[in-house]
Amino acid sequence: MPQVHASSRPKRWDHPFCNELSGAGGIDPSCILRILQFEPFCNMDEAGFRKSLSLRDILSNDTRIQRYEPGDLVVRSGDWGNSAFFVLSGQLRAEIERPGRSLPPETLGRKQPVHKTFLSSIARLWNKPEYGDSPSPEVQISSRQHGSQTRTFIQDLPTVLDEYRTSILSPGQWFGELSALGRTPRTTTVFAEEPAKLLEIRWQGLRDLMRFDKNAAVKTQIEDAFREHGLNEFLRNNPMFHDLDENELEALATQVEFRTYGEYDSPKPFKELAREGYENNFETEALIFEEGHYPNQALIVRSGLARMTVRHYHGHRTIGYLTAGQSFGLEEIVEGAGRELAVPYRSSLRAISFLSAVLIPTNAVERIVSQRPSEKNLKCTTSSGKLDKCSKSNGVPENLINFFVKNHYVQGTATMVIDLDRCVRCDDCVRACAATHDDVPRFVRHGPIYQNYMMANACLHCLDPVCMVECPTGAIHRHLENGHIVINEETCIGCAQCANNCPFDAIRMVPLTDQSGRVIVDQKSSSPLKQATKCDLCADQSGGPACQAACSHDALYRVEMSDFRQLEKRFKQ
Ligand code: SF4
Ligand code: SF4
Repeated sequence: MPQVHASSRPKRWDHPFCNELSGAGGIDPSCILRILQFEPFCNMDEAGFRKSLSLRDILSNDTRIQRYEPGDLVVRSGDWGNSAFFVLSGQLRAEIERPGRSLPPETLGRKQPVHKTFLSSIARLWNKPEYGDSPSPEVQISSRQHGSQTRTFIQDLPTVLDEYRTSILSPGQWFGELSALGRTPRTTTVFAEEPAKLLEIRWQGLRDLMRFDKNAAVKTQIEDAFREHGLNEFLRNNPMFHDLDENELEALATQVEFRTYGEYDSPKPFKELAREGYENNFETEALIFEEGHYPNQALIVRSGLARMTVRHYHGHRTIGYLTAGQSFGLEEIVEGAGRELAVPYRSSLRAISFLSAVLIPTNAVERIVSQRPSEKNLKCTTSSGKLDKCSKSNGVPENLINFFVKNHYVQGTATMVIDLDRCVRCDDCVRACAATHDDVPRFVRHGPIYQNYMMANACLHCLDPVCMVECPTGAIHRHLENGHIVINEETCIGCAQCANNCPFDAIRMVPLTDQSGRVIVDQKSSSPLKQATKCDLCADQSGGPACQAACSHDALYRVEMSDFRQLEKRFKQ
């Protein structure tokens, strides 16, 4: 029997998006022609697209048509988004979240509280809730089968949603695009109010539509829609602007500016950019504001991740990260309002890859402060320097926190740490991992050591998983419910973009074998076909990660680095 098995090399669109759902309508050419009649598609410049990546090919392969019945839940706030939606027909209702007045999780068919975000876990440490628990309406929640999907729906949707603030989404509108492009959780829950037909697009496809269309038709339409339908509520969600009335909010909204920083695609592999970051050389990250400068504007992040740094000897030190909803510069502007000398920015702000933000001019904030002097006492939702302050107040040694920050381990939501004072080098953890994953372990018991802690070479399940940025097929993605970073073996084409981008070398390209154990080779070049593998936190094991469960010495644990209670439990001196 031959030792190898020849096959053709997989390609980006071997598995079109519509094939991921049996039962979903496929995109046929006549349907594409109809989509191309809708704005903004009819305003796009097809000539700017590459031959191998034409507009029609993107629509055929990276989109699918989804049909919803009245009451169907389309997207749920807190779930991770890998795609955006464009309304082709029908009407939907989007819940406008306000603190203490959101739809309760059980109404949305969610049993467990969602995984905490970086923002929520940090914010919890110094923000007190301002409102009581939201009322829980008596609702009839059900599920039904739609092809291979199980859909949650609410009976008598209008009665339930009338208790909450909602906005209407009509044909020609987009939703979900910010979380798709920014790799962040959804911030809105959307239900179908009428039978609705939606065009769902993979984030890779949306990125390419925005990247190659010289007329910027999609980008302009998305921004115009946000200004018209979402901006006021977005501003109101910031504690600084909670209490503004409709007129004040409207006046503020007319003065803000939208801005994006960084590129959809990085000029260099992210691994290299991260290493430069370790050396405090941030020149590849777009500088937005500089420490010590007059604060001309405040910024609120719409999507993406930004780094805050302060000068440190001859370089810079990262003091924290901003994610969607967090602001920069408001504290300085509020503090300096009415003073002779302005308070300069206390740190610099840089965009890590693509960042979308809303900029508010200083005089607009000062006007609010002059009308409402109590705003001076407000806490803004910035994380400036909070990492340091929290670490000190929680007894975690500052030098250890600095090590985590400097090496970007604060990115991890499940960072694997091994306490070398407890570890007896038995390798039970590695064997357990191999036993769970076809005899190939997904991590290496090796890595940087600080004092008695080893940061083992395993996927951290990052807040900003740059491994996903250039995956052409979307094979590496966030699990929609728990947010873990996982790889779809069906759609991985082995291009190694993810492995090249992971700053932690947590992805391995392994040769593919057939059922008889023969290595599968490319029929043209005869080189082995490979696939990306990495830690998946034992996604299909009910007991959680096998490595941790197998360690009888309690030496190996997974830490959510932004949860200071976990840090305190593990690292307090
Ligand atoms: S593969 Fe790398 S970049 Fe991606 S989540 Fe894991 S550690 Fe982070
Ligand atoms: S190798 Fe990585 S980047 Fe390439 S298709 Fe597979 S998961 Fe995506």
